[in-house]
Amino acid sequence: MSGLRLEGLSKRYGRIDALRDVDLSVGTDELLAVLGPSGCGKTTLLRLIAGLEEPTGGRVLLDGRDITGLPPGRRNVSMVFQSHALFPHMTVRENIAFGLIVRDVPRADAAARVERAVGLVGCGNVLERRPHELSGGERQRVALARSLVREPDVFLFDEPLSNLDAELRVQMRAELKELHRRVGGVSVHVTHDQVEALVLGDRIAVLREGRVEQHGTPDEIWREPVNRFVARFVGSPTMNVVPADGPLRVQGVPADPGLELGVRPEHLRLGHGPARGSVALVEPVGSEAYVHVDVAGVRLVARCDSAGRPQPGDQVLLSAVPDHVHLFDAATGARVRRR
Ligand code: ATP
Repeated sequence: MSGLRLEGLSKRYGRIDALRDVDLSVGTDELLAVLGPSGCGKTTLLRLIAGLEEPTGGRVLLDGRDITGLPPGRRNVSMVFQSHALFPHMTVRENIAFGLIVRDVPRADAAARVERAVGLVGCGNVLERRPHELSGGERQRVALARSLVREPDVFLFDEPLSNLDAELRVQMRAELKELHRRVGGVSVHVTHDQVEALVLGDRIAVLREGRVEQHGTPDEIWREPVNRFVARFVGSPTMNVVPADGPLRVQGVPADPGLELGVRPEHLRLGHGPARGSVALVEPVGSEAYVHVDVAGVRLVARCDSAGRPQPGDQVLLSAVPDHVHLFDAATGARVRRR
């Protein structure tokens, strides 16, 4: 099979299971976004793929070949870090070329590859500068060029956008997506930002405490989260989850205390319905608003058009759009299929 395959990959640090029995595959030209909260094992996963750590169990396969025992230098895998990790005393050009020089790539070949990488990320105007003379976005582009120039089989990205300000982050996110489309290759992009994962990933793996909770396309993760954790981790504001015997009744769903209803804020309608509540807080965000409503001791968040938004203190009626209600087992959090 071509591409990257992780089989039963585990990593233990003393008593901490950083990764437990991870099975994942990433096809050629596919970008896998690994999403999860701090400490769930994202960086450990990348370090195992790069060969910077040895797994406690399991295998890493590239194009069907077992590379688990290979040192990093023999894997043709390149990693882009959050911190960029550029050499401060070298110019941008030297930084980009460094990986080729140490691998004894002939000079003319190296120069052509540097040109190509620089053209792809658009950092040709800063080649003679040193890293401290660059903006955050420029530094990020240089780090990308340095990774591209090696023409690796696998690109690893460890939260590469997290040090950028909000606007630049959105811009670089789009650039990364376009770059991946043009350059191809196996890419694994680690992030704790669910929007980044949804935007960039051909598929997403959601990690929690070292385990893969769900692996699927962004649409699958969004529409059919396998459990409450995935449902609440993906989406902002987060999905409302309330007891099925609570104030938010939905046609066809039994008022069973062993069940929970999950409703995303955009699927909660204001103005009519079975639940009545008091508006506690309104967050206007441009054309829409997030309305926090207290309903019989439960806080629900609805997304509505900003133009018709209620005010704090208003009494409102609420209903859920039945086709978009998720059901979870209250005890385990697992998704329950609706009959
Ligand atoms: P973050 O988003 O905060 O960077 P992460 O998802 O990348 O987190 P990891 O850095 O992979 O998480 O860490 C996973 C777990 O393994 C954590 O509990 C962490 O404390 C632990 N861990 C990571 N590296 C080591 C190490 N070298 N020694 C001991 N424990 C470690």
